[in-house]
Amino acid sequence: MMAAILPVPAQSGVAGGPPPAAAADLTIIGGGPVGMALALLLARDAREPGRIVLCAAERAAGAAAADPRVLALNHGSRVLLQALGAWPAGGADILDIHVSQRGRLGRTHISHSDFGVPALGTVVRYGALADALAQAVARSGVAVRHGTARIAAQEESVVLVEQDGAGWPTAVCVQAEGGAFGEQARGDVHRRYGQHAVLGSVLAARPRAGWAWERFTREGPLALLPYPAAPGAAPDPRRHALVWCCAPDRAQALCALDDAAFAHELNHAFGERLGRLAPAGPRHASPLGMNLRREPVHGRAVAIGNAAQTLHPVAGQGLNLGLRDAARLAQTLAPWLNATAGDPRPALARYAAARRADRWLTAGLTDFLPRVFASGLPPVEHAAGLALLALDASAALRRPLARHLLQGLRA
Ligand SMILES: Cc1cc2nc3c(=O)[nH]c(=O)nc-3n(C[C@H](O)[C@H](O)[C@H](O)COP(=O)(O)OP(=O)(O)OC[C@H]3O[C@@H](n4cnc5c(N)ncnc54)[C@H](O)[C@@H]3O)c2cc1C
Repeated sequence: MMAAILPVPAQSGVAGGPPPAAAADLTIIGGGPVGMALALLLARDAREPGRIVLCAAERAAGAAAADPRVLALNHGSRVLLQALGAWPAGGADILDIHVSQRGRLGRTHISHSDFGVPALGTVVRYGALADALAQAVARSGVAVRHGTARIAAQEESVVLVEQDGAGWPTAVCVQAEGGAFGEQARGDVHRRYGQHAVLGSVLAARPRAGWAWERFTREGPLALLPYPAAPGAAPDPRRHALVWCCAPDRAQALCALDDAAFAHELNHAFGERLGRLAPAGPRHASPLGMNLRREPVHGRAVAIGNAAQTLHPVAGQGLNLGLRDAARLAQTLAPWLNATAGDPRPALARYAAARRADRWLTAGLTDFLPRVFASGLPPVEHAAGLALLALDASAALRRPLARHLLQGLRA
């Protein structure tokens, strides 16, 4: 990664002294996909990209490669990342999505051909995406500082950022440090799902190329996604990424099973649409919760991506939403950044207002789906099943849902 390090004053904002001048126009805390995408978006049009600072906790290049997550990115996210020169190799396209409910009537099928797009989405490895973004950041002129950072104080004219004992004043601070996925409350709207996600990969005996499967069960949603190829390897169409949401005890038990016993449980839960499913590789459980900040802006500080909202992964929306945050923030701040003068707070207020509907709608949708399908109340489940049937029968009903999942509200 590049290292255009700013001269950083060791101490800023001495009480009673003159207000400190900002050493950085904008500092981003968090070098995850959302923070890096924002850095690239801002650097594209900035007069002085070196006055944008990205604080990345990870010190080693490729540190994110070990992250087992695979992410379904929608068409809009792909277009954005391609424009930034940060689209990772090896992604697996989703052409069709099949949504169903175990033990009930009701299913829906959404196809890329309904929307005239080459693919509904693409599944990428978190690590491959992080690497592609990091390489683009290294070419961008943005100043990268490694180590854990935090906001030390906020004053009228600057935010004071502290990292490994050094501090500097910045005119705007963006918090993109991600969020706790667990049941730990953070933000002011919090939901405990009492669920963990079992993550792993499986091989299907009768794969359907380009199909993604979302199955709602009493325990929680179970998703199988086309699997991205390993770096330098050919894709294996039999391989699918598994995200199986269930009670924490059950998740731990599923992870502890041997392959044969796990295969038995999985085939029972998913059914026979893909033939026999066999586990391939390690499994682990990750806790799930929702945290949402009502107001992402606080003075000169603004939270985006998972730092602003951490969602249930049911419809694969978290990063897609975070990238829309980044795109809108970059667009709103660009005139102020290029003028390098004036108060950025009116622009930040406009950002918060512009993002409200998309943030709340996406959070509401991803919060509603797992709860209604796991309610255990037959009338509610039946109604949910019928809703899926209606969705399948009516393109008019189906399109708005898929359109939102594809692109979100780009207000
Ligand atoms: C099981 C699972 C499946 C998912 N599937 C999908 C999917 O299919 N599609 C989708 O869109 N989303 C999905 N998501 C959500 C997605 O992973 C997140 O929305 C996305 O990673 C958020 O990106 P981010 O950059 O905001 O945060 P993160 O990815 O959490 O990155 C934050 C970064 O900031 C760093 N950091 C933290 N604190 C500090 C600090 N103090 N100083 C400096 N750096 C710091 C962290 O080390 C990290 O590198 C899924 C999530 C889970 C758990």
